[in-house]
Amino acid sequence: MISPAPTMVMSVRELDLAKALCRDVDDLEPDDFHVDDESSKHRITKKAIALCKTPCPIIHDCFNYGYANNLSGVYGGTTTTERETIRRRERKRRAAAL
Ligand code: SF4
Repeated sequence: MISPAPTMVMSVRELDLAKALCRDVDDLEPDDFHVDDESSKHRITKKAIALCKTPCPIIHDCFNYGYANNLSGVYGGTTTTERETIRRRERKRRAAAL
């Protein structure tokens, strides 16, 4: 499972989008990464996640961008729900470390 990096990519300008695999795919549209039903079992979302995990060369930066900015949709091969789960886990881990 992907984890947040200590240094977060906060701005889209920090992403090397020229390397993003989702830029030029025939069978996926940008909106496919932001479907309303974004559960990881959704057919389109599954396809988007599979592309991210090819792996996309910027998968970690993309994940961190979506995570740090609390965005909805597929970022770095994770859904919004999965990132929320990771966020809760990180909060618990930090609280336990105090
Ligand atoms: S990780 Fe996925 S959503 Fe992010 S840039 Fe790559 S293909 Fe696109």
